[in-house]
Amino acid sequence: MINLLDLDQSAMSAFFAERGDKPFRARQALRWIHRTLADRVESMTDLAKSTRDALMLDAEIRPPLVVRDSIASDGTRKWLLDVGGGNAIEAVYIPEPARGTLCISSQAGCALDCSFCSTGKQGFNRNLSVAEIIGQLWIANRALLASGVGGPRLEQGRHPISNVVMMGMGEPLANYDNVVTAMRIMLDDNAYGLSRRRVTLSTSGLVPALDRLGEDCPVALAVSLHAPNDALRDQLVPINRKYPIRLLLAACVRYIEHAPRDFVTFEYVMLDHVNDAPEQARELASLVRDVPCKFNLIPFNPFPSTEFRTSSRNRIVAFQRILQDADLIATIRKTRGEDIDAACGQLAGQVQDLTKRRLHRIQPVARP
Ligand code: SAH
Ligand code: SF4
Repeated sequence: MINLLDLDQSAMSAFFAERGDKPFRARQALRWIHRTLADRVESMTDLAKSTRDALMLDAEIRPPLVVRDSIASDGTRKWLLDVGGGNAIEAVYIPEPARGTLCISSQAGCALDCSFCSTGKQGFNRNLSVAEIIGQLWIANRALLASGVGGPRLEQGRHPISNVVMMGMGEPLANYDNVVTAMRIMLDDNAYGLSRRRVTLSTSGLVPALDRLGEDCPVALAVSLHAPNDALRDQLVPINRKYPIRLLLAACVRYIEHAPRDFVTFEYVMLDHVNDAPEQARELASLVRDVPCKFNLIPFNPFPSTEFRTSSRNRIVAFQRILQDADLIATIRKTRGEDIDAACGQLAGQVQDLTKRRLHRIQPVARP
């Protein structure tokens, strides 16, 4: 059985061509699935009945299974999705006045083992398929529409989710092919039609894959820097031992030539008395002197078993000021969805583990 959610424009065209169907069927199918958000082949009513009947025999629209849907007091909403084999992933919706952002996962677990990340602490389970990645966007748009969010926008061909950030579980560039195919569907005018500026990929710095991305599918880029020098970054982000800061920054500069934005966003998680001292801010400012960039300072979100603590507000603001005094743009990320463990780095893995640890805390609630 083919899962139609796995197919972008070119794969869909090949699929219909093989069946002896007209090429424009691919476009029609994409529009049904991703614009109208149809959940079954039967509903694609502008396909001839005979075509539909034949299609139903070997194709389906199969998103991951939603096992929990929780809404935080600030409106952040999190879907826990079962992707089989005891693995679960999470997608998080962050409402803001002018946009709706969805934070998407790319892997179940992550092999890169950053020391402050709860996903990394679970180890790597597997790469998500295209259907599992794009399925998060499909599910969120459908669920939000069902709750009455952004209803009229669908009629104008627009969905409640206006922005996607690949900042959930996993390292997107370590699942390169599936992530790029899913992003092509996000950008496709017959599907979600998002502009490249509204899709952001966050990476811990897989340099060769970053260069490929610049050629294949340049979208807005966020890079997890987290340290002002290799000695510290080696400890916090172990992939740094393979691709040290100098190589990473050079790759960022190359990427900007292709990118839809003329800067890179550096993410910097604020770890109390680890990477948040004033002299580290100064070292950081001089490190990125030649890279067009903005900083996003992320207050560390603790999770059980971590040895790190969140920097105090004073230390974060002092750090920010030093960057600003060096003419850098530096913002502090507002933590969202904490009460449903939906904040950065808190996304969890195993369904079983979750049931034990969190069931008593998460209560799905109806949206007002
Ligand atoms: N693997 C990619 C994308 C997923 S992580 C990457 O590392 O960039 C998204 C962001 O959340 C990264 O900047 C990551 O460093 C940060 N993060 C991870 N754990 C965190 C935590 N416990 N608190 C705050 N931010 C965290
Ligand atoms: Fe993986 Fe990103 Fe977490 Fe590092 S911070 S372990 S790369 S998900």
